[in-house]
Amino acid sequence: MLDTASLQDTQQHQSITILGATGSIGTSTLNVIAMHPKRYSVYAISGHSQLHKLAKIAEQFAPQVIAVNNQEDALTLASLLPHDSTINICCGEQGLIDIASHKHVDTVMSAIVGAAGLLPTLAAVKAGKKVLLANKESLVMSGELFMDAVKTYKATLIPIDSEHNAIFQCLPTNYEYANPNASGISHLLLTASGGPFREAMPDELKNVTPDQACAHPNWDMGRKISVDSASMMNKGLEFIEAKWLFGIHEDNIKVVIHPQSTIHSMVQYKDGSVLAQMGNPDMRTPIAHALAYPQRIESGVEALNFFEQANFTFEAPEPERFPNLFLAMRASRLGQAATTALNAANEIAVEAFLAEQICFTDIFMVNQAVVEQMHSPTLNSIEDILSHDANCRALASEMVNTIISEATQC
Ligand code: NAD
Ligand code: MG
Repeated sequence: MLDTASLQDTQQHQSITILGATGSIGTSTLNVIAMHPKRYSVYAISGHSQLHKLAKIAEQFAPQVIAVNNQEDALTLASLLPHDSTINICCGEQGLIDIASHKHVDTVMSAIVGAAGLLPTLAAVKAGKKVLLANKESLVMSGELFMDAVKTYKATLIPIDSEHNAIFQCLPTNYEYANPNASGISHLLLTASGGPFREAMPDELKNVTPDQACAHPNWDMGRKISVDSASMMNKGLEFIEAKWLFGIHEDNIKVVIHPQSTIHSMVQYKDGSVLAQMGNPDMRTPIAHALAYPQRIESGVEALNFFEQANFTFEAPEPERFPNLFLAMRASRLGQAATTALNAANEIAVEAFLAEQICFTDIFMVNQAVVEQMHSPTLNSIEDILSHDANCRALASEMVNTIISEATQC
């Protein structure tokens, strides 16, 4: 993954596609890019059906292409752009694939939420781009195939997830992928804030609302990842993400609850050293790091003031308190079909929770049942992954419908 030689040209101007430009990560990326207009330009943006936002971004960043959901949205977006606009509008999955792999693009920010990010991100990988990976779901869905493609197509993959970006910064520059022992590494320490319900037991959470679940104490994020953070599924997905990104066995990854979210993660070495990456919790830091790597640029994030930090605390996660985290760790050991199933079930369950169709605690029930039933197939290709994903979504949707028809107290 880490090929410093191929990154020597990053001083030169970079032309960027931002998949998911209208979201939380997309907005932070645009904020960093706006601070460095000579260094970065935006080739293309996507934003599904957030057309007004896309038109506004286009006014400021003048991309050459915008990708939207469908033909109807393309027509509406065209009517929102100046009548003499030369911006090309494309649509659908193929539109996302095209802007991710276009020959004029150097760097792709993968910031679509969920499984919808998989094929466009993979297209960027197969085109050998520098890929800044926020879309953790693509690795959870297809870890080994994804990482094989990174290697085969000589793409450069830099993690954006703050924990993984922190680990990336704490690894030796000559880190040998999938051989942590050779680099003297004993464990990756993945920190977790514990989310808004850190001190509650699961049975106290039945009636929490989507707004309560989305009110993260330290981070401002999109709604799906906010719910994942509240359920600790986010940390579970990140556990699986870390395994694939760094080629490290589950036994060598530990989750550490650190409610202050100042240490973004750590690497523990065999000699007793622990390297940590710290900073204020603001995604512009990992985004700026990844955009400029191996250099450093301004991100707009305030410097960390140690004298304002009350304290740093650390706790071990307990299975009774964070069942989704431990389910994800189990799925990771079960293998690819289990993590693909987990991701699919979780996306369906979170969507139903955000639509107030099921309770917060039902998310775990759906996730667990789908993993238990769907962990055995062998998945050898992306087609296998997509077909398994569809089957798991169908099962999860069936379960959600059963919960809806049976529940009266939610
Ligand atoms: P968000 O909901 O704010 O934005 C999601 C983006 O994806 C939007 O641009 C939206 O238009 C687009 N999108 C949604 N559904 C789509 C579909 N079906 N097809 C195409 N585009 C679609 O989400 P976010 O918080 O920016 O998160 C984006 C990704 O980054 C997620 O995978 C998340 O786990 C990861 N991530 C986010 C943060 C954070 O701080 N927000 C931190 C780490 C990782
Ligand atoms: Mg994270």
